[in-house]
Amino acid sequence: QAYLNAIEAANQVFNAYIAVTPEKALDMAKTSDKRRAGGAAGALEGIPLGIKDLFATHDVHTQACSHILDGFKPKYESTVTQNLWDDGAVMLGKLNMDEFAMGSSNETSHYGAVVNPWKAQGSNQQLVPGGSSGGSAAAVAAHLCAAATATDTGGSIRQPGAFTGTVGIKPTYGRCSRWGTVAFASSLDQAGPIARDVRDAAIMLKSMASVDAKDTTSVDLPVPDYEAALGQSLKGMRIGIPKEYRVDGMPDEIEKLWSQGIAWLKDAGAEIVDITLPHTKYALPAYYIVAPAEASSNLARYDGVRYGLRVDGKDIADMYEKTRAAGFGTEVKRRIMIGTYVLSAGYYDAYYLQAQKVRTLIKRDFELVFDAGVDAILTPATPSSAFGIADQDLAADPVKMYLNDIFTVTVNMAGLPGIAVPAGLDAKGLPLGLQLIGKPFEEETLFKTAYVIE
Ligand code: GLN
Repeated sequence: QAYLNAIEAANQVFNAYIAVTPEKALDMAKTSDKRRAGGAAGALEGIPLGIKDLFATHDVHTQACSHILDGFKPKYESTVTQNLWDDGAVMLGKLNMDEFAMGSSNETSHYGAVVNPWKAQGSNQQLVPGGSSGGSAAAVAAHLCAAATATDTGGSIRQPGAFTGTVGIKPTYGRCSRWGTVAFASSLDQAGPIARDVRDAAIMLKSMASVDAKDTTSVDLPVPDYEAALGQSLKGMRIGIPKEYRVDGMPDEIEKLWSQGIAWLKDAGAEIVDITLPHTKYALPAYYIVAPAEASSNLARYDGVRYGLRVDGKDIADMYEKTRAAGFGTEVKRRIMIGTYVLSAGYYDAYYLQAQKVRTLIKRDFELVFDAGVDAILTPATPSSAFGIADQDLAADPVKMYLNDIFTVTVNMAGLPGIAVPAGLDAKGLPLGLQLIGKPFEEETLFKTAYVIE
């Protein structure tokens, strides 16, 4: 009830929730009380969570914040959210996000921008919370839920985490089931938590993760007790610092933050080693081919027949066209066009196939570093702190917006786990985050290392 009251009081300001489910929340809370009284409390018993609108929730608003899914209420529950409910968590409602998770500022949502709870010192300008999981990050930062689910295809957990001073982890590809999560780019998409601290993120990921017969890319490996890793020594650990992440024009503050992070990890007993990930500079262009390609294929299903919006036309082809023209926003249309182009005969070899080859090289860069004895890699999470809503510069040039993902997309391309952890404030008093990248299925290493930084 306290969280529902907080949402009622503050959501108008932040626009983090696009649907609140008070009856469901109170009902689930009552069930939790009973389970607790009966001595059968789950790991998340009674914990109120916000759910990104990308997760299918039974009979509850699920629209990936797109107009084209208007009125869609699935008759099924995503595996990740079902896992959370099985452990006793309580649903508060659905959270705002960029349309179909395409964006880095939450401004592509059909439901409007989300306001970052943080403001620069002495300024009243409204800032973005990052994206695409902007609603999740803002709701956690503003205490409108205890933690939230999110997804990360190219940084959408880690970048909003960094912009709001929260902790976000994208687990290894395959750690969480993708079943029931609206697909953006299926070979990159992973669910993960955004939480207020490393411990909460560790507890929540443990509940979210599972193998699932309904997603053959989910992996049948035991899910460790991530919380148990917190407080473990970093002695003997080797942390790699990739020189390619020192990008041109990186602000001094980010550089300083990175050095500070290195110093903290050294103090905690880790050995710092310089490493090279030579194909890093190709990650962003390759990502912006692979992700739109997969998106154009995944989004073909929204045709006005099966889901949501239908705009009638003179025949079925006309109905498809009118529905898709009215239902998708500008950024989604841009991605569908790029994706269709790079997959089309004559261009497939030049773009898509080439991008897949680059992806293999990016993955190999990481493998070589890990094979040489590096346990985790430390980088900044984002090239800047949160920027303003409706930034003219970014609005005029979508490629500039894509540059936000420069430190995060390599992790998705290689399928690795990555965590963003708050590491300090910039001169404006805004949060900045550091990122740790780990070996496949070694999320524990990330949690224990991030715990030293937070
Ligand atoms: N900003 C990236 C994009 O727009 C990442 C999105 C995501 O991780 N869902 O594609």
